[in-house]
Amino acid sequence: MANCIFCAIVAGDMPATIVDEDADTLAFMDINPWARGHTLVVPRRHYENLLEVEPSDLASTFAAAKRVAARMTDNLGAQGVWLWNSCGEAAGQVVMHFHVHVIPTKGEKPPPPGLRDASIDQAEIAAAAATLRDDT
Ligand code: AMP
Ligand code: ZN
Repeated sequence: MANCIFCAIVAGDMPATIVDEDADTLAFMDINPWARGHTLVVPRRHYENLLEVEPSDLASTFAAAKRVAARMTDNLGAQGVWLWNSCGEAAGQVVMHFHVHVIPTKGEKPPPPGLRDASIDQAEIAAAAATLRDDT
């Protein structure tokens, strides 16, 4: 889809810090995280939102989110994981390519949508990604 940032990331035309991929999905770090390790999972195919996504791609996206959640628990010390999806502008969706936020927590209260953690810098994002990918 032209003018879609997440399609550009899937195509390799825009940089992203990738932590998981398979034939149908890609998982990469959110550039403006709510918590250290905040990851986005997208289907490679473009769908605008939850109401548009094919069930098979929905299943693949959630299977990928589960893999990432397991690594947050095993590698990043998460005690729990939030999955978040905004469906439609009225719900706060900004990027119109279906995606699921996977966000680790150590017991903090969930942030209101849109509230970011400004203490997390680019080096922290890269370090969290390496941990999630199992890099040594
Ligand atoms: P929303 O559409 O409200 O579910 O949120 C879109 C999310 O995409 C936000 O958390 C942004 O920080 C994130 N985001 C926007 N552009 C990029 C990008 N180029 N790479 C990674 N994350 C992005
Ligand atoms: Zn797209």
